Amino acid sequence: MQRISVIGAGTMGNGIAHVFAMNGFNVTLVDVSEEALKKALATITKNLDRMVAKGNITDEVKLATLGRLVTNTSLHSCKDADLVVEAATENVDIKLRIFKELDEVCKSETILASNTSSISITKIGAATKRADKVIGMHFMNPVPVMKLVEVIRGYATSDEVLQTIMDVSHKLGKSPVEVNDYPGFVANRILMPMINEAIQTLHEGVAGVEEIDTVMKLGLSHPMGPLQLADFIGLDVCLAIMRVLHDGFGNPKYAPCPLLVNMVTAGYLGVKTGEGFYNYTLGVKDMVISPRFA
Ligand code: NAD
Repeated sequence: MQRISVIGAGTMGNGIAHVFAMNGFNVTLVDVSEEALKKALATITKNLDRMVAKGNITDEVKLATLGRLVTNTSLHSCKDADLVVEAATENVDIKLRIFKELDEVCKSETILASNTSSISITKIGAATKRADKVIGMHFMNPVPVMKLVEVIRGYATSDEVLQTIMDVSHKLGKSPVEVNDYPGFVANRILMPMINEAIQTLHEGVAGVEEIDTVMKLGLSHPMGPLQLADFIGLDVCLAIMRVLHDGFGNPKYAPCPLLVNMVTAGYLGVKTGEGFYNYTLGVKDMVISPRFA
């Protein structure tokens, strides 16, 4: 296991490429957008520089890491990969198309992993002729910092592939946890209903934005309140995951809060659009409660 391709050079893809390259793997980072690839390389360089400045790595490690990293805009560049980690846009049609193409392009023994937050690994596997070699490798954001990899075993994933991915995750200095393939896996099945309930609590006027976040931070030692966290994740992503839980289990307890639906429909998606429960026009550090909730 030496040659890794990472598909998608966005928030997660650049972090995944960074961590693989820093741990000695040869990485090809693939994106349909040249612009995204340029931005990803700049981000990885900046993050490595920060690690050098903090004394966490040497300048030689930084240069060696960058030396193991190349970029490409075509999935055909994955033909020699031993492992492909897909971290493209969270859209089922895009992912199924990518996996079908990877299945045709890659060697028969190549393992195909997805970093999806919510799409069924079993469904992705079924789009290929190698469902036994398709697995979930769910990294957390920011990837170079967060220790957990949720390793999702699809219905057809083999024991051998599971073991290989657990071993690779350890080689990256991560702590992998094996979970089965059910809607939301473990992390989002527990996190998203909590965020949805926080939004429902706000919607019903039980308490304001600041009060809800303060209760969870000071009362339950959460490093960030659920409404602020929702803004950071993106309210569109939170809504999409609630819909996966609602559709997947058919249980009304997972119905997305109408306020969340309204905010996403109106384009108030959190940090990425400058406003969600908080307003970020002065920057993330100087965020204030959105005037709509003040
Ligand atoms: P992003 O929007 O930042 O990046 C997605 C990238 O995929 C873009 O650069 C886009 O150009 C590229 N892309 C789209 N279609 C492609 C294709 N056909 N081939 C190659 N590249 C393509 O998204 P992200 O936040 O990095 O999320 C990526 C994946 O990681 C999603 O499945 C998401 O659910 C998952 N995830 C995200 C987070 C998070 O906090 N953002 C956490 C865990 C998992």
